[in-house]
Amino acid sequence: MTDLSYTSFEIPLADPLQTASGSIDTRRGFVVRYGDGLGEATPLSGWTETPKATEEALEAAGEHVPGAPSRGLLACDDAPAARHGLSQAMLDHHARRRGLPLYRYLGASEPIHTVTVNAILDETPVDALTTQASQAIADGFRTLKLKVGRGPIDHDIERLRQLRRTVGDEIELRADANGSWSTANAVGVCRQVRELDLAYLEQPTSVHDTANLGVLAETGVPIALDETIAAGEVLTALRSPVTAIIIKPMAVGGIDRALAIAKATRQCGKLPVISDLITGAVGRAGAIHLAAVVNAATAHGLATGSRLDGDLVEGVGAVTNGCVSVPSGLGIGLDTEVFRR
Ligand SMILES: [Mg+2]
Repeated sequence: MTDLSYTSFEIPLADPLQTASGSIDTRRGFVVRYGDGLGEATPLSGWTETPKATEEALEAAGEHVPGAPSRGLLACDDAPAARHGLSQAMLDHHARRRGLPLYRYLGASEPIHTVTVNAILDETPVDALTTQASQAIADGFRTLKLKVGRGPIDHDIERLRQLRRTVGDEIELRADANGSWSTANAVGVCRQVRELDLAYLEQPTSVHDTANLGVLAETGVPIALDETIAAGEVLTALRSPVTAIIIKPMAVGGIDRALAIAKATRQCGKLPVISDLITGAVGRAGAIHLAAVVNAATAHGLATGSRLDGDLVEGVGAVTNGCVSVPSGLGIGLDTEVFRR
């Protein structure tokens, strides 16, 4: 019989993060252990259950796991962060037992050493944006993602134009509005940035605002959905004319669920992109293995480790030349003994 255990942790953020319930300056979660495996359960307001609900779900799961692991997972069904932690620990345990790195256990047939990632640009003033973009390219990034939707739309349009002028035609540009715009504003922006050849505009309007996706796609700007997927509207997104689907394993309840969504996304002719909910190194390592099996050459949203001031394990997901290393070794590739306290 294999037991479940978990330990809480807290990691300061390098800069405060805006969430559905205000600004936060630390990430709090749990490292979950199942046999030889490690998982991470790190909830985030607006994306998952509350931290209290995460702990309650893990506690409930712990009563079932030794005799009936699948019932443990069912106990976390409504708590995606808790389910992520438990299911990741189970995957890690089974991959180690099989003598495989997690990405091979998940189905990759060839060795994969690195995963491409995008840089995130969030500086609001145009001058600072130009500097930040040039630095990202000098650091080796070939895909840049600009956060938009926080100021006037005319300002965002000017920032996107300036960014394209700065980086030239060879760099892939993405924009993410985090659901900030009305349909009318989003359509207006799309019509004005059509010539900038954006790879996609992510979540232009709010989570459940999916009736407008046809109108948005008709502008010629490819659309991606992120928050809509985390909110569970996967089938709606798959049936819609969007180009890409952003999948955060912590928000959808686990690496297993995220991989199933990624496969369905590809079957629908769309691009799956894996992204991280600013988790610690255990969750990030799992997301990197997932991205490796989904498509190592697509730029994923996994350059998030630098947003933490400290970590569970240092150096996991450090970016070199626009790529992160897939942690080598069995399972997720982290030393289980570090967490045996
Ligand atoms: Mg997003």
